[in-house]
Amino acid sequence: MQRLPGEWREWLTARGERGFRGDQIFAWIHKRGVLDPEQMSNLPKNLRRELTAAGLADPLRLSHVHPSEDGTSKLLLRLADESTIETVLLPASARVHDADAAAAAEDEDEDEDDAAAEDESASPEAPTLPRIAVTQCISSQVGCAMGCVFCASGIAGLKRHLSAAEIIAQVIAGRRSLPPQQHLRNVVFMGMGEPLHNFEATVRAIELMIHPDGLGLAARRITVSTSGLVPEIDRLGAHFEGRIGLAISLHQADDAKRSALMPINDRYPLKALMASLRRYPLRRRRNITIEYTLVAGHNDSVEDARALSSLLSKLRVKVNLIPMNPIAHSDLGPPTDGRVSRFQAVLRNAGLLCFVRRRRGDDVSAACGQLALEGAEPNVRFLRSQPKE
Ligand code: SAH
Ligand code: SF4
Repeated sequence: MQRLPGEWREWLTARGERGFRGDQIFAWIHKRGVLDPEQMSNLPKNLRRELTAAGLADPLRLSHVHPSEDGTSKLLLRLADESTIETVLLPASARVHDADAAAAAEDEDEDEDDAAAEDESASPEAPTLPRIAVTQCISSQVGCAMGCVFCASGIAGLKRHLSAAEIIAQVIAGRRSLPPQQHLRNVVFMGMGEPLHNFEATVRAIELMIHPDGLGLAARRITVSTSGLVPEIDRLGAHFEGRIGLAISLHQADDAKRSALMPINDRYPLKALMASLRRYPLRRRRNITIEYTLVAGHNDSVEDARALSSLLSKLRVKVNLIPMNPIAHSDLGPPTDGRVSRFQAVLRNAGLLCFVRRRRGDDVSAACGQLALEGAEPNVRFLRSQPKE
């Protein structure tokens, strides 16, 4: 199911089938969300059998839906090897607070003057019902190898990469679960895992999502969030020519303190990361999103805010401050509201675009960083005790 239409056509002609069937198969999977060949009613029976024999099937099944009081819902999905992953659906109109994961995508809407949470895109003959735009936060790996100390996925460690088929099947499952008045508009790679550590599958999943004959998502409505894998940031920028939104998890503007929060900083320190952001082929009127999870005592002082503003001063960025969402096995937590406001004020006074993103869905542990591996024990390697400032 990770083939693009042209690849399906080749696959079919190599088997003596007619090439146009490839477009039908692609549309069944990606436009209509039908992954069982037996249900692809316009295909001949023998081809359906052939597709089943070749292994075409839904690579995951919906295990649980956890609706949150604020309209967010978290889907627990079970993969063929019984691993579980989570994906979160964030409808715009259910916004009680500013969303964290939804924010990167929604802010781009503001840039484009279609910030309305609802859009009037019903067909002319139907009564015009406002449709609610949904942002889906998806996972790219089972767990994560990056070991950020404030993140549930990081504490669990990496179990495995997701395939492109599994990544796209999450989006299909998410879209299928939406009520009729909601439609999927934005996808953010801010669930479990580091998407650029699983580069090939991430790129292929994006290619599938933006194909006009499939899900048809706009490239600018997809955001890849990364802890800062420099070579892959370059490759992503080059591959999609800057059309994909980029979010960087920065969390500290000082190398030593950043390394204590995010071990990846030892490999790609700030100088290298900042240089890669300057190289990113950013489109007109777009910003790179800087995510900054505020962890009390680790990155929330006025000095930290000043260091951050000077680091970002010459870049086209927008900063999202996310007070840390509490996670199991960690005593790290968010600063007080007063400290959050003071931090934001320093950045705004320095002329930076800066928003505070309050958590959503935390009554069902669906907020950023809270997506966890079912039954996972923490990987002690990542439970480093951190010095307070
Ligand atoms: N691995 C990628 C994408 C997934 S994490 C990345 O790190 O960017 C998505 C966002 O959630 C990141 O900005 C991450 O730093 C943030 N995050 C992780 N744990 C968090 C927590 N406990 N509270 C708030 N934000 C958290
Ligand atoms: Fe991985 Fe992102 Fe969590 Fe860091 S914050 S451990 S990179 S998922």
